[in-house]
Amino acid sequence: MPELPEVETIKRELRPRIRNQRIVDCTILRPDVIAHPRPSSFCREIIGEKIRDVTRKAKYLILELSNGKRIIIHLRLSGTMALAPIDVEPEKFTRLVLRLEDCQLLFKEPRVLGRIYLLKNREKPSNLKGYFSLGCEPISSDFDFTYLRSKIKHRKARIKSLLLDQNICAGVGNIYSDEALYRAGIRPLRRAHRITKQETTRLIESLKDVLHEGIANFGTSVSDYRRTDGKDGNFQNFLYVYGREDEPCRKCGTIIKLQKIGNRSTRYCPKCQK
Ligand SMILES: [Zn+2]
Repeated sequence: MPELPEVETIKRELRPRIRNQRIVDCTILRPDVIAHPRPSSFCREIIGEKIRDVTRKAKYLILELSNGKRIIIHLRLSGTMALAPIDVEPEKFTRLVLRLEDCQLLFKEPRVLGRIYLLKNREKPSNLKGYFSLGCEPISSDFDFTYLRSKIKHRKARIKSLLLDQNICAGVGNIYSDEALYRAGIRPLRRAHRITKQETTRLIESLKDVLHEGIANFGTSVSDYRRTDGKDGNFQNFLYVYGREDEPCRKCGTIIKLQKIGNRSTRYCPKCQK
């Protein structure tokens, strides 16, 4: 599932290629992916507009258009963005094709869970609530001790669940939360209010580190995530716990455990994480 580093990679790859290009044509191959407005008006509203910039907020990719319009793309579980030459026929699983001046921008999504929104100015559609209530991203300078401490110190929930909460840790998902907890030496099952001040500091540093390293390595390709040229990211080669259940811990040799927390699978080292 694309998290902050994967979406950031896509943003960085798309920006130099599509910025300042005009949307010449728009083809919706699967109307369900257009969440707002109605698919019938989506294309009409964007054809002729220029892509002023490509940005990102948490796990959302944003195409900023002329006239203050924004296309917000939520890749969810298996969505990817790809660039293709103009004459290439869309392959299976392509759900939306934006024809630009010298290339095509494709939204591919095998499971059809990803969603695309077109917002005008200050529009706030009710099916995009999560976007407007996002908390801080751990890579921002606002994500500091005071911030995280205030979010966790009165909470009895398990720390792992709070790291997945987009109102607290915007952009973090299952991969980077497991990796950050491992690096901080904190067991994911711990109750948040029992996390010490020292551990909070370590957790903040670990979150920042794993996300920055994920970005530097072009994201983690463990299932569907691919870069915009179809290649894999690299960070799967540097994971300590995610996807490594039943394998020995890279530091101490103890077998990595897999456990469900809520409905999410969590991996941790029973020895390194207290
Ligand atoms: Zn270990």
